Amino acid sequence: MPIGVLNCKIGMGKTFDIGLERLTGGSEFSIGSAINTVHRGGSRNEGSAAHAGARTEASGLEAIRGALRGTFFLETFGCQMNDHDSEKVAGVLLSRGYTQVESPDSASLILYNTCSIREKAAQKVFSRLGEFGLTENTGRIIGVLGCVAQQEGEEIFKRAPWVSLVCGSASYSKLPELLAQVEAGNQRVTGLDTDTDETFETEITRRDNPWRAYLTIIEGCDKACSYCVVPYTRGPERSRASDSILREVRQLADLGYSEVQLLGQTVNSYKDPTPRKMRFSELLLAVADAAGIRRVRFTTSHPSDFTEDIVDAIDLQPKLCNHVHLPVQSGSTRVLRAMQRTYSREEYLQKIRMIRGAKRAISITTDIIVGFPGETQEDLAETLSLLDAVKYDNMFSFKYSPRPHTPSLAMSDLISEEEKSRRLALLQEKQREIQTARHLTMVGENFELLVSGKSRRENQWSGHTSCHRVINFSSQEQALLGKYVQVQVTGATPNSLLGEQAL
Ligand code: SAM
Ligand code: SF4
Repeated sequence: MPIGVLNCKIGMGKTFDIGLERLTGGSEFSIGSAINTVHRGGSRNEGSAAHAGARTEASGLEAIRGALRGTFFLETFGCQMNDHDSEKVAGVLLSRGYTQVESPDSASLILYNTCSIREKAAQKVFSRLGEFGLTENTGRIIGVLGCVAQQEGEEIFKRAPWVSLVCGSASYSKLPELLAQVEAGNQRVTGLDTDTDETFETEITRRDNPWRAYLTIIEGCDKACSYCVVPYTRGPERSRASDSILREVRQLADLGYSEVQLLGQTVNSYKDPTPRKMRFSELLLAVADAAGIRRVRFTTSHPSDFTEDIVDAIDLQPKLCNHVHLPVQSGSTRVLRAMQRTYSREEYLQKIRMIRGAKRAISITTDIIVGFPGETQEDLAETLSLLDAVKYDNMFSFKYSPRPHTPSLAMSDLISEEEKSRRLALLQEKQREIQTARHLTMVGENFELLVSGKSRRENQWSGHTSCHRVINFSSQEQALLGKYVQVQVTGATPNSLLGEQAL
């Protein structure tokens, strides 16, 4: 099965120094990213070798036809799943013969991959679209992808008539056909169907990070949290075939990726659609078994589907990173019920005890929403006391934002923006104290880091531990990017650690 790596001049706003010889066996020079050509079956349940061959031939012709198609600019908003969707969308465009550029000014195709999880995120794309006008836009194709596309649908054409493609993530598998329609001059092309059991698999993925590769293993969401627009924008839950996932992992390892991160809105709700019926924990162990893979991450886990076998797998296999992102959303059972989160405070704490009972120390991070309709001071006090009880290693906190098509939109007893800000500040102050104290206990400890950043300051580098902490460290060694090194912690801040490479 052919595997290819091409170099790409344009990164998605991030640059990395990387020795290409590590990937290709060729000579070293600097690239922004790698394009991985992997050939897969087209459907969830695998395609035959003959089918894969036919797709290869077809895409070769497609690339030749598309050689004159022009340039594309793709900007991404939102979560890691959107980042990875964009890597695959870019792969589709590159295989059609487009070239990626860094600015919309020099692009013939401009795409925005959008996020609508909160109002602010959704507004961003309309401000971007406002920068174009009908008159200025002659000859350029503008498209809106992702959650805002799904949420607003054809309304986008009314608000911004210069847009000609609106496509939600559940329709990405149809992207080549939709692009063909746009290229043929169709001014109103939509992909808005969410009634699908397909996952988005591409032959080419233009990966943004040369060491860590994202892999979406489950798309959509079947939970129904009352504040969340994701089930509406991303459609029903659908899992990718385990053999297709494992094949891609092996290909990634062959390409030189040593860390893979499995993605899903509820990654641990994974249900293998093949007769193997691999459990999520079995899939984790199988991914870790791929030769060349040193670290396996997964996010985001839903507490209700977090079972003991996942903890056992982390205990058994050191390549599984000792970090679990387990969003709680609120510490009050009353609010959790209103949020339709399917667990109580006590049930959540039971999961925490299970994770803390592991032989390896597993770091735990979370998401919390403050100012949900009807949240009282007592409810907030319960969330603050949950932080004390769990002592999270990190927290992402949000002010509740009413979203279209969600049940909480109809709820009364709304909290003012001012009060939401006050509650958020209280929460963040508490977490800051917890993190500062926790980080101070780590001074003197040694960690293995995957080095992923080089500071402009001489001999300063940064990387992530297996438990997903960032350490900024000094080293006299050169060319550390992409390498694993031992670092001793010498100092702490609330958000990161400082260290020196250990000899
Ligand atoms: N599927 C993940 C889960 O259930 O934990 C979360 C996915 S969501 C993209 C990321 C986070 O955004 C959520 O955990 C929640 O804290 C936050 N979020 C989602 N909807 C929100 C809303 N309407 N207002 C504020 N924050 C929201
Ligand atoms: Fe949204 Fe809840 Fe699904 Fe997470 S589990 S994506 S918060 S509906």
